Amino acid sequence: MKTKILPALRVDLHCHSYYSDGDCSPQEILAMALLHRLDLLALTDHDTLLGYHELKKLAEHEAIHIVPGLECSVTWQGMELHILGLGVDVSDGDLQNLIAQQGKKRYVRAVQIAALLAEHGVGDALAGALAIAGHDGLSRTHFAKYLVQTQKVSNTQMAFKKYLGSRSPAYVASNWASLETTVAIIRAAKGVAVLAHPLHYSLSTGQLKGLVKQFKDVGGQAIEIVSGVMKSKDIQRLMSLAQFFNLGFSTGSDFHRKQLFRPEVGAQLQLQGFVALSWMQDLIV
Ligand code: AMP
Ligand code: MN
Ligand code: MN
Ligand code: MN
Repeated sequence: MKTKILPALRVDLHCHSYYSDGDCSPQEILAMALLHRLDLLALTDHDTLLGYHELKKLAEHEAIHIVPGLECSVTWQGMELHILGLGVDVSDGDLQNLIAQQGKKRYVRAVQIAALLAEHGVGDALAGALAIAGHDGLSRTHFAKYLVQTQKVSNTQMAFKKYLGSRSPAYVASNWASLETTVAIIRAAKGVAVLAHPLHYSLSTGQLKGLVKQFKDVGGQAIEIVSGVMKSKDIQRLMSLAQFFNLGFSTGSDFHRKQLFRPEVGAQLQLQGFVALSWMQDLIV
C-alpha cells in the first residue's frame, strides 16, 4: 500500500440504495453526494451492482467520480463479515459469478428466515419482505420492516433483537463466500478489498487482531476507519490497527436512509488529512 500524500479528496466509499437494503434511489444518493461536493462516491449495495449501473449513467455529466463498488457478505468462523470491493471491473466474469451465487444464497436464506418466522407466529413474511424490497435480493432489513409493518415489533432495532439478530430465533447463518475467495475475486477484478466496519462484529481485541491479520494475509488492502458515526477513540484504535498491518484507511457513511444522528451520504466524519491517500487517487480512472 503506497502512502504518498496527495491533494485531499472528499469521499464516501460506502452507502446503500434501494437496490439492496437502503431506502433511497441512486438519484437521491447522487443528489446528497453532489450537495456535499464529493470527489469520489461508491454506492456499495450488498452483493449487487444494479444500483451502481444506474448511478453511473445518472452521474455521467456531473463533476463527481463514481467508483464501481459493492459490499460482499462473507462467512468467517461461523459469523457474517462484510468486505467492500472498490474500483472493481464490473465486467469480470468471476465477480459476476460471485454476485449470482450470493444472490441465490440470499434468496434461499430468505425462505428459511420466513419459515422460522412462521414458527414464531409471523405469517407471510416472504411475500411481505418481497413487497417491501421490490426485488428478490432480500436482506434482514426487509424482514425487519415487515415485522414493524405487521406490528410484531415497534421498530427495526427490536426486530433484530427479538427475531433476526445472530442470537435470535429467526436467525439463519447463511453460507456466504469465504474471506479468502471474496478477497481473491475482488483483487482479480482489479478492485481494492476493504474490511467494512471492523467494530461491528462484537470481537474481542485479540479476535479483531486475528481477523485483520487474516484479512491482510489473504490479500486485503484497507480497513474502514470511519463508518458513519464513530467515537474518536475508536477511530484512533482502528488507525493503529491498520498501521500495524500496513493496511490503507477507508471511510464511508454506510448510509441506508435519512435518520436522526446518522450522517447522510458524504457527511460522515471525514479522515481529515488522511483521505488524500494514493490508493483512493488510484480509484479515479
Ligand atoms: P443481511 O445482509 O441481510 O444479513 O442484513 C444485514 C443488514 O441488516 C446490515 O447491512 C444492516 O443494514 C442491517 N442490520 C444488521 N443489524 C442490525 C440492527 N441491529 N439494527 C438495524 N439494522 C441492522
Ligand atoms: Mn445494510
Ligand atoms: Mn455492512
Ligand atoms: Mn453497508
